[in-house]
Amino acid sequence: MKTTTRVAVIGGGVVGCSVLYHLTKLGWSDVMLLERSELTSGSTWHAAGGFHTLNGDTNMAALQGYTIRLYKELEAITGMSCGLHHVGGITLADTQDRFDMFVAERAKHRYMGLETEIVGPEEIAKMAPIVNLDGIVGGLYDPLDGHLDPSGTTHAYAKAARMGGATIETHCKVVETNQRPDGTWDVVTEKGTIHAEHIVNAGGLWAREVGAMAGIYFPLHPMEHQYIVTDDIPMIYERGSEHPHVMDPAGESYLRQEGRGLCIGFYEKPCKPWAVDGTPWDFGHELLPDDFDKIEDSINFAYKRFPVLETAGVKTVIHGPFTFAPDGNPLVGPVPGVRNYWSACGVMAGFSQGGGVGLTLAQWMIEGEAERDVTGLDVGRFGKWITPGYTRPKVIENYQTRFSIAYPNEEKPAARPHRTTPMYDIFDGMGAVWGHQFGLEVVNYFATGDEPRYETPSFRRSNAWNATAREVAAVRNGVGINEVQNFGKFSVTGPNARAWLDRVMAGRMPKQGRMSLTPMLSPNGRLWGDFTVSCLSETEFQLTASYGAQEIHHRWFLKNQMDGVTVENISDRRTGFQIAGPKAREVLAACTRDDVTTMKFLDVRRMVVGQVNCIVQRVSYTGDLGYEIFCDPMDQRQLWNTLWTVGEPMGMKPFGMRAMMSLRLDRFFGSWLREFSPDYTAAETGIDRFIDWKKNSDWIGKAAAMAERETPPARQAVVFEVDADNADVTAYEPVFHNDAVVGFCTSGGYSHHAGKSIAFALVPRDIVTDDLTVEIEILGSRRKAKRIETPLFDADGAVLRG
Ligand SMILES: Cc1cc2nc3c(=O)[nH]c(=O)nc-3n(C[C@H](O)[C@H](O)[C@H](O)COP(=O)(O)OP(=O)(O)OC[C@H]3O[C@@H](n4cnc5c(N)ncnc54)[C@H](O)[C@@H]3O)c2cc1C
Repeated sequence: MKTTTRVAVIGGGVVGCSVLYHLTKLGWSDVMLLERSELTSGSTWHAAGGFHTLNGDTNMAALQGYTIRLYKELEAITGMSCGLHHVGGITLADTQDRFDMFVAERAKHRYMGLETEIVGPEEIAKMAPIVNLDGIVGGLYDPLDGHLDPSGTTHAYAKAARMGGATIETHCKVVETNQRPDGTWDVVTEKGTIHAEHIVNAGGLWAREVGAMAGIYFPLHPMEHQYIVTDDIPMIYERGSEHPHVMDPAGESYLRQEGRGLCIGFYEKPCKPWAVDGTPWDFGHELLPDDFDKIEDSINFAYKRFPVLETAGVKTVIHGPFTFAPDGNPLVGPVPGVRNYWSACGVMAGFSQGGGVGLTLAQWMIEGEAERDVTGLDVGRFGKWITPGYTRPKVIENYQTRFSIAYPNEEKPAARPHRTTPMYDIFDGMGAVWGHQFGLEVVNYFATGDEPRYETPSFRRSNAWNATAREVAAVRNGVGINEVQNFGKFSVTGPNARAWLDRVMAGRMPKQGRMSLTPMLSPNGRLWGDFTVSCLSETEFQLTASYGAQEIHHRWFLKNQMDGVTVENISDRRTGFQIAGPKAREVLAACTRDDVTTMKFLDVRRMVVGQVNCIVQRVSYTGDLGYEIFCDPMDQRQLWNTLWTVGEPMGMKPFGMRAMMSLRLDRFFGSWLREFSPDYTAAETGIDRFIDWKKNSDWIGKAAAMAERETPPARQAVVFEVDADNADVTAYEPVFHNDAVVGFCTSGGYSHHAGKSIAFALVPRDIVTDDLTVEIEILGSRRKAKRIETPLFDADGAVLRG
């Protein structure tokens, strides 16, 4: 056995083999896979082998599309068969809401290049005659759906990897992973120790145990899952062609032809987590005992939807475990805080996603970044706050709602509240309707009077409408208050703090007592963050950015460390409030002995507010006159008492994220992972206006950004006023120009201040004119939209700067 390798991939399921193949494909041949038994010895061997492209997350859908197209390439390279059946699939809609969701999904597919189709009951009857169409409104047809042979496909990946120089060691259980001081790893196996530069955890069902060997907790959990294969059914085998897949979300089932019969699996509500305290090492090629009790309701529903099943005998029952992360997406990428340790686990749909996961990870390891925004599957999207106690209920919830309608405003309840600030009880007592961000409870809006404490999930304007309008008005006409907890915050200290910032950030770094806004770029010039930098002294800066991206940003900072600088993630060590609106200055002035009238826009000062030491910044994402007031969490309630006691008699009202996201529209402020994301470059989004082209430092992404400055990118960010009805743009709606899809929306919403529906979109630069008019498809209806360039509030910046 080899004793040194550049990469040791632990786990020979479909995911590990795909990672191994992609490493060789991208040029690393000194790579090795270690499998405790034979290949496919985890979830992989008993998978139903189905694959599909549909995914609410467009980057996941792209990754799934890549996986499916890869199989033909694998067959060609290896001469092996993946047992492909490209039969197409229909997902049924039994309610108008579900149909709306499909129409919205179909709209996104237009610019993603996916040839899905909305089909009516008559077409469904022709394509899938076994469906009982009672109550069916329509469906979404995807020609790319199909299934394959799980074992054949995994072995094809393995053969392709071997052909690229990789080594595969079976019956070689990894028992320890020990890091050396230089960041490399000793991978101790039953056959001896291997010295590896990098480790990839592709341990699937045992990923938790493999992670624990290095002291890492991976937030995933195995769930039991069952599918049934029937005896031969004449109506199936007498057809001239293979029956398409049918997904029936109402019955939580997926169905396809298997030989001369059918195969049907369920995502049942009474589901069961498996191996709660750890996956036994001796679990191998066995199945779990049949459990018809938990799928009884699902089976009865299936009998009604597919009456042919009722008389079909059961040939085989497959009941096995596979793993899920709390949000159902894979856990991929460099594990934050652990050098040279990579994750490729939590992949619940290995045959839809395995290829894309392999490609993503290989690009990340070899080229330093993946080709598209991978935040949705980044292992860094969960923080250190996550525990098995949180993961398990979330995984159960995700399993149970796998086929549920996914509404853009939905807040799922399991495992909440998990993290709360000292304000939780106070805001709750004031009627807070809570949202959830990176484990933290964040107020969406405040219900008053008889308003329900629950926002109805909807594709249309929700019942939060009145409350949001009320809170927007309170800010624009008086003063509003909310928490600043949900910012990611970093403290950058040391003699080289400014030099480091000048390298990591593309923008101009502020002078002492000032703030600046800046993009952070990857070497390829893609957006890695949009930061606010505050200079407290020449050796102390505060950074604020997205709360949900804090681990991802911190990982990037550690990768780009410099001597003489300390970067600390202080997201949960500094909290406080924002006050915003025309009366904000009056409120602050009444709470401090400092002269706040001399504070200009983008000034930052240390100040005692009431009796609390604070950092006060004159800035507000609402676009209004406003202040962010940061303090120690232990002081937060005292700070609240001061601000509220003074502010309430002046008409101050609390406001939540729904109002904040409406207010930002008025000034065309972009938002992280909407307008700004690693999918886009600075010039595409317009955030390049904050780049300091003159600074001398060699900032990351400089060459790429400079090149774009010479040759502007093909796409441009544009704001539209939309002739909307009762639904606004959320994200990824297609933009039509002269009847062709030319772009898509990055986000949008309703400006309660201006009474207008607003959309932010990326469109081809060469069609952009002052009076550009397009159509945007919202829930299947094409709405007229005209370009606007003048902000809807404070167009001349007088309020902001005044
Ligand atoms: C009943 C059922 C039906 C399914 N149907 C589908 C479907 O239709 N389509 C689909 O896409 N997905 C389906 N899945 C899910 C699919 O099986 C998984 O997504 C996929 O198998 C995950 O692959 P993996 O490589 O991540 O993990 P695994 O297959 O679990 O592989 C992990 C491997 O790592 C090895 N390993 C672990 N620890 C060590 C160690 N310490 N040393 C060495 N080796 C180690 C294990 O032996 C194992 O071979 C289904 C799952 C089940 C249970």
